[in-house]
Amino acid sequence: MPRKKQQDPYVCPTCGTRVEKPEKTWQLISPIPDAQGRITITVMGSFSCPNGHKWKAVVSKIRAGGSGVEVEGKKGVKKIASEEGENERDRGEVIELDLSDLDREDFEDEED
Ligand SMILES: [Zn+2]
Repeated sequence: MPRKKQQDPYVCPTCGTRVEKPEKTWQLISPIPDAQGRITITVMGSFSCPNGHKWKAVVSKIRAGGSGVEVEGKKGVKKIASEEGENERDRGEVIELDLSDLDREDFEDEED
């Protein structure tokens, strides 16, 4: 299965040196929800390699809202299930029976 080519944010775009971690990270929160009503939080990082190059890259993306939370990082997309309470409302359906309907039969009073 071909994987979408994704640039490793930890690799220097100038010399290709891979660094351990970003110098600094910060979050960008998209003000507009996506089609599924989720807010995307982009984690940005500023990096610098031993050769003195500096760059900024997206470290991961977090999508929150809707049916749960998705964290998109180096290892792919990780889905975090929503709290159990979310599904409660889908469980069971109350059917109300009116007993008087069950007892009633349609007799025709035939009088000879
Ligand atoms: Zn470099």
